[in-house]
Amino acid sequence: MSMKTIYNFNAGPATMPTAVLQQLHEELQPTGKPSLLEISHRSKEFVAINEETQTRLRQLLAIPKNYKVLLLPGGASQQFAMVPLNLMDKSADYVLTGHWSEKAAAEADSVGKVNRIDSATENGYQTIPAIEKLAADPTASYLHITSNNTIYGTQYKGFPKTADVPLVADMSSDICSRPVPITDFGLIYACAQKNLGPAGITAVIVRDDLVERNYRTMPSFFRYATHVAKASIYNTPAVFAIYAMCLVLRWIEVEGGLKSIKERNEAKAKLLYDTLDASELYLTHASRESRSMMNVTWRLPTTELTDSFLNQASAAGLQGLKGHRAVGGIRASLYNAMPLAGVQTLIEFIREFERQT
Ligand SMILES: *Cc1c(COP(=O)(O)O)cnc(C)c1O
Repeated sequence: MSMKTIYNFNAGPATMPTAVLQQLHEELQPTGKPSLLEISHRSKEFVAINEETQTRLRQLLAIPKNYKVLLLPGGASQQFAMVPLNLMDKSADYVLTGHWSEKAAAEADSVGKVNRIDSATENGYQTIPAIEKLAADPTASYLHITSNNTIYGTQYKGFPKTADVPLVADMSSDICSRPVPITDFGLIYACAQKNLGPAGITAVIVRDDLVERNYRTMPSFFRYATHVAKASIYNTPAVFAIYAMCLVLRWIEVEGGLKSIKERNEAKAKLLYDTLDASELYLTHASRESRSMMNVTWRLPTTELTDSFLNQASAAGLQGLKGHRAVGGIRASLYNAMPLAGVQTLIEFIREFERQT
């Protein structure tokens, strides 16, 4: 029985490495012996996986010793609340570059004064604001950015230098897609379901001095220090998600680490952008200098053509290409696990669709 290859361009939860899915499938076959999902999270087997996952993330991203790595439940959205609860004294700066940064800022509103830096809102979030033009407040508790805008398809190519104001980044949709200078940041968070595995956990990388900040009374569960003290096993963690993330991190290492992954991601994105730029039918959303390597967004002239594109693409095995309703059109998510062959198949389809139209 031959199966047609399906390529999954969903924005999140998103495609995972085939080798990881196969390993999970094999290891979770019932054998009579309890699997990792069916034993105590304090067993030496699981504790070793929890440690390995944190150590691998540390090694891959070259995280210095004065930062803690946490694996927390609750998604990136929980971090929208935990960041201001833990780090905000009176005010914080939020650079608005899309839907997710708006949500992060809205959650911070309930904790203190939010200074919104919104130079990209008026153009439909087509750009990342020029870093040196940010109207940042030197007395802010931190400055928050979203490194990759999953919905609009824009991405920071370099990061703002914020001097003594800690830089906080939501890297949910581009963590481990490229090396990043960790010491530029005070705190980084990223939910797993784009580039690190299945949904259920969020990685948090936090500098030691920020763990110690203590501005308000709040339930201990929401304090970073609580989870740091217990190496992310304060309560029962998302054991499956952590194990799957461990396998994804092993896979990244086998694939050559973040430098190779970055080169591959750049090559995949370039193929697609070059194809769209050469066309007279498709119009890309993000301005050139702000284009994301992870989420490529474009439009067709009418909704009829968009629907027809999506239907025919799906029939050809190219799935999950519908753009977010805020932008419309098409979105192709090219996370680490998307093979080059998937992008090649997509660009052949894009060209063929234009020829027929
Ligand atoms: C997907 C995504 C989120 C939302 O994450 P949840 O885990 O659903 O809370 C937040 N920020 C960015 C940049 C995302 O891509």
